[in-house]
Amino acid sequence: MFEFFKHITSKTKIILLGFMLILIPGAIISYLSLESINQKAENLKVKYSGTVKLVRDKLESELFRYEANLRNNLTELFPQSGNHNELKEWLLNIESENPAFKHLFLVSTNGGVISSSVSLGWNKISESLPFKNQQAVNNFNMAEKAEFIQKNYVDAIRFYRNALALTRSSQNTTLLLSRIGRCYYKSGKYKSGINEYKKILELENKKTNPAEIPAIVIALSQIIDGYKAIKDEQEQYKATIKLYQQLLDHPWDLLGGEYLYYLKSATTEIQKLESSDIMTDLTLRNIQTLNIKGEKLLELIGFTELVQHNILSELGSDFSHDVPVRLQSMSILMKENNSTLQLGFFKLPIEFQESEIFASGYQFEKDYILSNLFPEILNTVELGKDVFVGILGENDSLLYIRHNQSLSNYLVAENFSLLFNDWKVALFDKDEKSVEQLIGKEKQLYLILFIGIITVMLIGIGIMVRAVYHETELSRMKSEFVSNVSHELKTPLALIRMFGETLDEGLVTDEKKRKEFYSIIRKESERLTQLINTVLDFSRMDRGVKQYHFEKTDLVKVVRDSLEAYKFHIRDNGFEIESEFPTEAIILNIDKDAISQAMLNLLSNAVKYSEDKKFILVKVFKNSESAFISVTDSGVGIKKEELKKIFEKFYRISVTQEKQTRGNGLGLTLSKHIIQAHGGNIGVESEIGKGSTFTISIPLFSPNTK
Ligand code: ADP
Repeated sequence: MFEFFKHITSKTKIILLGFMLILIPGAIISYLSLESINQKAENLKVKYSGTVKLVRDKLESELFRYEANLRNNLTELFPQSGNHNELKEWLLNIESENPAFKHLFLVSTNGGVISSSVSLGWNKISESLPFKNQQAVNNFNMAEKAEFIQKNYVDAIRFYRNALALTRSSQNTTLLLSRIGRCYYKSGKYKSGINEYKKILELENKKTNPAEIPAIVIALSQIIDGYKAIKDEQEQYKATIKLYQQLLDHPWDLLGGEYLYYLKSATTEIQKLESSDIMTDLTLRNIQTLNIKGEKLLELIGFTELVQHNILSELGSDFSHDVPVRLQSMSILMKENNSTLQLGFFKLPIEFQESEIFASGYQFEKDYILSNLFPEILNTVELGKDVFVGILGENDSLLYIRHNQSLSNYLVAENFSLLFNDWKVALFDKDEKSVEQLIGKEKQLYLILFIGIITVMLIGIGIMVRAVYHETELSRMKSEFVSNVSHELKTPLALIRMFGETLDEGLVTDEKKRKEFYSIIRKESERLTQLINTVLDFSRMDRGVKQYHFEKTDLVKVVRDSLEAYKFHIRDNGFEIESEFPTEAIILNIDKDAISQAMLNLLSNAVKYSEDKKFILVKVFKNSESAFISVTDSGVGIKKEELKKIFEKFYRISVTQEKQTRGNGLGLTLSKHIIQAHGGNIGVESEIGKGSTFTISIPLFSPNTK
């Protein structure tokens, strides 16, 4: 690691330091901000769920207050007589004073249930009263004999009428009138029969025991049958509507199922009537009002049966326990319409035992609670402008929301804990945002910042590592260069010195040998000069002060002359040279010495990096845009991955020691610089073991060449 940093220049170190000083605190700050935003979201959630719990508790406690009030009404104002109709009226009264509840009911000690309109097993069926008058009894017996055995309806009617004249009780009157009517029907005299039955309708005191089928209901049913028999549709339907109305207004105890039977047959008749063509608008409207009433009644009947099935077992039969009042709540899922009923019920105080009543209960009126009670309570809760309270039902369906918004995405929600278990109180943002969304933008910003800084840091570090690697590489190559250059200086100097001393001492007498020695000294000093020139040239180039002298010159001639000057040396090394030059001159604005230097560089490399196959081809050619010089050898070749690097300064391909060639890694760098100064380029194609072709291109029309 430290080894690595040792090679970094101080400039790089300063950049690195600055980079770290700015970016690391930046990254830390944005990370902390991100954390604090998460914390903020958490706090916001805690705050909202606190609020929502408060609202929920307030709604629930208000519901309980209403419930307590209702229970007070149910326990305090109880009518002492305990009469059936009085009880119904009393319940109806309390219902109208407590609109948050409906279907108030009482449970009797024998398991009967009574509500404001219907009862189930509430009344004991009383025995019918016997005739008090013996003469009336005799007449009644004779009439039955005539009716059932002799089938003499005229006699039967006569005896029934005799009995009727002797009776006072309203119950017996209705019985005899209906017998007379029946006999008329049996003898086919429907009109007379209808008249008898109509008399029952007109009786003043037609109240019978509520547990039995009221005489008026029986009479109306018979009248309908009568009109049916004589095909008087108009009258038949009038009587049907009358019966329907009577049934809806005076339902009697459900135990035994007669009431439901009559109601069902009346509804079927009414349905037929609704689709018949003798309907007038007026009767239709009349029927529709009755139907609405009928629906309500059926709902209540369903409820009463449900109470008997579900609640009686909950209450237990021993009503002496659990006194004083103990409240129980229960929610029941109604299978047929998938709605949940919320009920409350409790055992009544001991005083109620006298009237044989032991428990009471009620259903919560959801609609009223949602549309009146909750809005009233919520209006007193101040939540600020940006949030709304809503009530959610099953599957988070919106049951109620303040300001009639229709929002679906809530911030937080809290279940009701004791009543309405499937309801939730929810807080909504006015723009329907969740807590995450509320702080989302801020979070996103910091996240982007954080990621951005980390990315910049990583890129920076990557660039830095690359730069350091390059610097290390460069410094390695530089030291290699120094050792190469020293070596290249040492060898010619040693030769010059050795041959110079030998000549100086006058030991060489042979003229030929002496000439050879002089030649070596001259060649070696030329090499020295060339080496020093190369280094100086490179230094100028590196500092950007190298100057070129452009003049109009024939490129072909420059290449030919350079080759000519070097041919001797090449041939000396055993090379075969071929050249292809165009016949016409290529006149360009060039620095001929520089081009010649680049050219000689390529030739010298071709010689240096060839082994057994000693062949060099030099070509000059052009196309419409550029002129080209190419130098091809059949030498060692260059690996693909090295092709680009060989033009870098000081770069030399490392080879095994025995094949080590002399060089400094500057030749191609200089050549490239020269060619680029001419607006051209230098490239290479090579294959390992087969040879290389270096091609110089110089544009025909660059600013320099024109
Ligand atoms: P030098 O020849 O002084 O080492 P250069 O810059 O001239 O420096 O060349 C760089 C490297 O390119 C050389 O070390 C050599 O490995 C490789 N090279 C150049 N020319 C040839 C060639 N004709 N054939 C094979 N290798 C070559």
